[in-house]
Amino acid sequence: MNILVLGSGGREHTFAWKLAQSSKCKALFVAPGNSGTSEIATNLPISVTDFDAIKGAVLTHKIDCVVVGPEDPLVQGIHDYFLNDDQLKNVSVIGPQKAAAELEGSKEFAKEFMMRHKIPTAAYQSFTSENVEDGFKFLETLDPPYVLKADGLAAGKGVLILNDLDEAKSELKNMLVNQKFGEASAKVVIEEFLDGIELSCFVLSDGKDYKILPTAKDYKRIGEGDTGLNTGGMGAVSPVPFASEDFLSKIEERIVKPTIEGLKKDNLPYVGFIFIGLIKVGDEPKVIEYNVRMGDPETEVVLPRLKTDLVAIFEAMGSKKLSEIEIEIDERAATTIMLVSGGYPEAYEKGKEIHGLETITDSIPFHAGAQKKDGKIVTSGGRVMAITSYGKTYDEAIKKSYQTIDKLRFDKMYYRKDIGFDL
Ligand code: ATP
Repeated sequence: MNILVLGSGGREHTFAWKLAQSSKCKALFVAPGNSGTSEIATNLPISVTDFDAIKGAVLTHKIDCVVVGPEDPLVQGIHDYFLNDDQLKNVSVIGPQKAAAELEGSKEFAKEFMMRHKIPTAAYQSFTSENVEDGFKFLETLDPPYVLKADGLAAGKGVLILNDLDEAKSELKNMLVNQKFGEASAKVVIEEFLDGIELSCFVLSDGKDYKILPTAKDYKRIGEGDTGLNTGGMGAVSPVPFASEDFLSKIEERIVKPTIEGLKKDNLPYVGFIFIGLIKVGDEPKVIEYNVRMGDPETEVVLPRLKTDLVAIFEAMGSKKLSEIEIEIDERAATTIMLVSGGYPEAYEKGKEIHGLETITDSIPFHAGAQKKDGKIVTSGGRVMAITSYGKTYDEAIKKSYQTIDKLRFDKMYYRKDIGFDL
């Protein structure tokens, strides 16, 4: 198979790393890619939302399968673009069509889907600028903290959790009337606050059957002890130790199966990854969100634990034969720790040379915001590199990642020193 991966983060480097291990992978391209993907694939300087340029690359390189990393192209309808084009319609696309991508593109759509299919989630109501006053009244019926969510995509920043009722009302007005998050907050979902511990579950779907991948937990905040601003993710671990067999079977029965059945009933054909953000309230799993692609940095711990050939899995997904695939998982734990540019998630500098990569023996460095320049590898983004390690235990895996990081450096490098310490 000739495969094109869309994206440029640690997630896409991990996809490329795993795909390149398969004897079924004849040629591998990544658009636009990074310094890590350039070592194992051919990078193409194409934006993930430039569908016409992607079409050109697919035809030129005789691509059989396109793996969509981030959500934007899916929400903008890349899969539909392929299906509606005579030259592209037989190319397999890993990622759902636009209608199903609304599970991530619109929080209200996702909530309605969950209600319709009786999938456990927080109680909610949604509001527009037409009924702000009703929103205030609804807030008055809830106990703090108050959860306000912009309906549309807001780069992970569209959720506010507030303790004070007056502040919640004023933020609601800000979102609806003053368009705090632009079009994304033209509608706002107000939700019951769920108190518990978060984890993520990843599901493969071919539109007919499903397979469950290992669970993972990510660390979102910039500061140790989960403090400070939200980021794209500062680290992750897999599996999640508090997800017992019993709890995992609740997830499968109450959430995964009704989600897959719900997609079929609603006539939403789904070929791709479903990322289910969960919260464990007492012993019960509830859904916080759906994402229609893999997470980053969760991919950097989930795929390294997958022993099954990923190209064989994608082939099976493309031909609706996922049920014939056996998913084999490495028993070892995997952890990843994200190295970021000092200042991130606010302003930061780029172009800093990364030293020490040649010394790595015990970990896998998945490149994210890193590019090659004049023969050197330099920083090009906020999240720079995810350092993944395996271990018989978490402690062993985490220790290995930190030992590797001790040998790496770039100007103003920052990382959290407490990933996995709460487990
Ligand atoms: P992401 O950046 O993960 O894509 P998002 O902007 O799509 O996030 P959500 O995942 O819905 O939004 O919410 C972001 C975070 O807010 C969650 O990871 C969780 O920590 C918190 N959160 C969301 N909803 C609730 C809730 N009902 N109760 C408690 N915490 C919540």
